[in-house]
Order: sequence, then C-alpha cells, then structure tokens
Amino acid sequence: MSADILALARPEVPPLPAYNAGLSSQAVRARYGVDHIARLGSNENPYGPSPRVAEALAGLAGQVLHYSDADSTALREAIAARSGTQAGHIVIGNGSESILQMLSLALLSPGDRVLTQRPAFGLHEIYPRMMGAQVELLELTPALGFDVDAWCAALARGPKIAMLANPSNPVSCMFETAAFARLLAATPAGTLLVVDEAYVEYARLTPGFPDALPMLRDWGGAWIVLRTFSKAWGLAGLRVGYGIASDAALVQLLDRVRTPFGVNLAAQLAACAALADEAHMRQGVARTVLQRDAMAAQLQALGLRVAPSATNFLFVDLGRPNGPVNEALLARGVIVKPWKEAGFTQFLRISIGTDDDNARCLAALRTALAS
Ligand SMILES: *Cc1c(COP(=O)(O)O)cnc(C)c1O
Repeated sequence: MSADILALARPEVPPLPAYNAGLSSQAVRARYGVDHIARLGSNENPYGPSPRVAEALAGLAGQVLHYSDADSTALREAIAARSGTQAGHIVIGNGSESILQMLSLALLSPGDRVLTQRPAFGLHEIYPRMMGAQVELLELTPALGFDVDAWCAALARGPKIAMLANPSNPVSCMFETAAFARLLAATPAGTLLVVDEAYVEYARLTPGFPDALPMLRDWGGAWIVLRTFSKAWGLAGLRVGYGIASDAALVQLLDRVRTPFGVNLAAQLAACAALADEAHMRQGVARTVLQRDAMAAQLQALGLRVAPSATNFLFVDLGRPNGPVNEALLARGVIVKPWKEAGFTQFLRISIGTDDDNARCLAALRTALAS
C-alpha cells in the first residue's frame, strides 16, 4: 500500500489482520499437482444439504431478475417457529459472520470494551477492532478448556459486548450448563452477551452442553444467539446465518446498519428447504460425531494430544511446529488448518470429513510424523 492511500484509511483499519481463510482446493491442486483433495480445513459438512435444497434451487434461473426479500420473511418465520420466538426477534445475515459485523457497526465506538477468548474465531476480535474497540482476550486453561473463573471476573467488569463461541472454534471446548449459568450470573446489565452457537447441532449430542435459549430467557439480560447454515446444514457456499435476540429493538438496530439485500434469493430458498428436512441434518451430524470419536482415538494412538471435541473438528497438538507437517499434508492433497496464533503454532485443526478423507488425512499424518 502506498503512503497516500494509508493516509486515507481510518486508523483502525491498516493494522487489522487479514482473515485466514486457508487455501482453496484449486490452489492446492495447481501447486501440488494432486487430483483428490480432502477438504478438512473449513468445518464443512461433507454430506451436504438435504436433497430438498437442490429441488428448491432448480427453478432459480427464472427468478434471478428479482431482488431478494430484504426482510427474509419466510426464513425468519420458519426459524421463529422452530425456536419458540417471534420473527421480530430474528435477524438473518449473509453468513453469521455478517451478524458479528452488524453488531460491531451498530454498537461499538472507539474505546468501548469487548471481551472474548483466545484462540477463537478471528472475527470475534477483528470486527470490534475495526470499530476501535479495546478487545480483552482471555486465555485457555492448561487442559485446553475455558477458564470459567477468569470469564466471570472479566464479565463482572462490564464490557459492552462479550463474544463467546460455545462450543469454541478452534479448540472445541465448551461451557457446560453449570458454567454457563455462572457466566450469566456474573454478567451485569449493560453488557450484551453474544453466544455464537455455530456448532450447536453437533454439540447437542455431547452430554452437559447447555440449552442456552431458555437459560438466557430466564436470565433476562441483553443477548443474541448466533447460528449458521454453513456447518451442520451444509450450505457454507450460499452464506446464510441467523441470530435470535433478547429484544426486537436489537434486531431493529441491526436492520439500520446491514446491507438491505445482503441475504440473496438462493440463500433464502435453500435455508428454508434445508430447515424443512431436519432428519437429513441429524443423520449427517450423527455420522460425523461417530467418525470424530474414532478419528480422535486414532490420532491419540499416534501419540498426539487431542482436545475433547463437541463439534465437527478436532484441535490436535502435534508437539512440534505445524508448518512442515501441514506442507506434507498439502503435498498429499489434505487441507487442514494449521493454527498461526502465537502459542498455538504446534496445533492443527482437522475437520471431520468422509471416511475416505479421514483415512487419507491419518495416513498422510502418520507419514509426516515419521519423517
Ligand atoms: C463457521 C463459524 C461461523 C461463521 O459461519 P458463517 O455463517 O459461514 O459466516 C461463526 N462462528 C464460528 C465460531 C464459526 O466457526
């Protein structure tokens, strides 16, 4: 960037880290000359969405001349009915990441305090910093869990927003029901609790995972729960996520800062069709959870430390720098996510794929670790 361009930028912007989206399948194919790619870097659902999604999208070409419904009416009503709330409490985004951005745009001024976890989903930190907020990052416990005492103490200091992913990405740890209740009790009025449940459909199968919505309703503070169609529902490429908010007034604030037609026609149609076939989603999730536990055992048999997982991925401690191991995996067409944050550069985050892709990943890891 030239100096004159930098002088035009808001001071918050040039220091922001770029979001680390990893390598595309095409890039890996071209660079390493491999045919088969095992995509285990983005926590996608390898089984894809319900066949009803393809049916719903079949007539799309004839509709693309029209703008999408700016209010995503049908989708909000479907989500409201499923979650026992009203459509006025639901916000839809171009991926749930865009709702994180709306929250930052609508609520944060320079100097406002935001609390979140490290390591975490990068945008929990990047969007608040974009607005000039001060972000406090809490550390994990040595056992790779959330530090509940530290969270309670930091919440009591009254940050404007607290962003937590339950379960976490990339670690996959979770606040269990009792810990979540302690968090709520520690959070003062005036703090907005953002509970990012991107992996809730997987986590529900882990004993102890809290049923957050009724707990938040009983608590009575300001909150929003974020969920996505990108993971268990298999629609990552269409970009659609949603938030369920304590107050319709919060949704109305977000409406003022969001892109009016940010949720496109295909995304709205596909999400409605996917929601109507919950059985398909549940089958894929159940399969992934079994494969995850088998994969964790096999990684442990290689002598690796694997964090307990409530999601569709594993956070794996290689006990050595992740760069060379990641290169060896890429050379065999296996894409995972080597963590790049200080203190975690010996970890890989490995998404659970098909049996075939999981086996390729294990074989490539075995070879890489032996060299
Ligand atoms: C994947 C993920 C999201 C983003 O989902 P999109 O709806 O695809 O934007 C949000 N939060 C966490 C923790 C995630 O892992």
